[in-house]
Amino acid sequence: MRPHPEFAIEFGSRLLAWYRHHRRELPWRHTDDPYAIWVSETMLQQTQVATVVPYYRRFLAAFPTVHALAAAPEEAVLAVWAGLGYYSRARNLHRAARIVCERFGGRIPDDPVRLRELPGVGRYTAGAIASLAYGRPTPVVDGNVERVLARVFALRGDVRRPPLARELWDLAEALIPPAASRDFNSAMMELGATLCTPRSPDCPRCPVVSLCQGRAEGIAEALPERRAAPAITPIEVAAAVVWREERVLLGRGDRGRWVGLWQLPHREIQAGEDPAETARRALAEWTGVTGDAAGVIAEIRHTITRFRVRLRAVRIRVDGDEPRPLACAALRWLHPSEVEHLPVPTPHRRLLARIAAPEGAE
Ligand code: SF4
Repeated sequence: MRPHPEFAIEFGSRLLAWYRHHRRELPWRHTDDPYAIWVSETMLQQTQVATVVPYYRRFLAAFPTVHALAAAPEEAVLAVWAGLGYYSRARNLHRAARIVCERFGGRIPDDPVRLRELPGVGRYTAGAIASLAYGRPTPVVDGNVERVLARVFALRGDVRRPPLARELWDLAEALIPPAASRDFNSAMMELGATLCTPRSPDCPRCPVVSLCQGRAEGIAEALPERRAAPAITPIEVAAAVVWREERVLLGRGDRGRWVGLWQLPHREIQAGEDPAETARRALAEWTGVTGDAAGVIAEIRHTITRFRVRLRAVRIRVDGDEPRPLACAALRWLHPSEVEHLPVPTPHRRLLARIAAPEGAE
């Protein structure tokens, strides 16, 4: 499906006029620096704007250029990212920055095809950098744009699967006014984020209401159609807390979701297993040492993607053996004040905040 050229002109001019008066002031809207835009778009994947803003400022203060990012050790990058979650985004950004410096002399490509060769850069991010930084007429389709397009064109079906997913990209491309791709793409995302929201779209205030087929048919709120979200799975996890002179033992992950981050040795509790026993096993697997479990001393609950996790801390007194890194890349005894400056996943940071070093910690 391709919109009629007159429709595209009308749609674009209405949307752009609205955007220029109503857009939110966001820090990445005041720059056309491709590096800054790349950082913002990477952070905005799976994360709300309000959460991203302070992280974006902090990240650019720490690594103001692609060269600065490329030169930084991974641990420093993860430490500044810590709390934002989905750490593979930070690792990919870091790796990609090194590639940009090595292969392209530090100039971030303006060609979406070359951009997509970089780790972590998919069609969305490539389109965003090419259009928002370089003004190229490349489409961007995120969740907000999907919703706007599905409603404006009254499209039924799963927007995340072909053929409809492909059709949305084609529509987004066909609607771009060639001379205003930056503002147009930003405006589409802004419309979805502020007026054409998932529930209760504010159609009376919408600049394209007279062009919206979904609204005309009275089905806008039911769009876009999607497969049902996967069910939430509860998981129980036990973590071992071992103290030595007011320092707690943390391991640097070498696999899974939290590669490169400092964590309490932990593992999932199997059905019928006691948390204290699980924590002892986790400690043995991570460090090779065993000890006596003194029981659960704190717990927190958190959600990661489709998992609802109950994380319990178990204090363990070790028998004097020196721990060595087995199921992790490294081990360190860390004072709580040092943990502040290291990349630690948020659930473990929260758990550590609840457990003070015991009197006379061994
Ligand atoms: S008229 Fe309503 S449903 Fe249609 S694009 Fe505007 S806000 Fe969304």
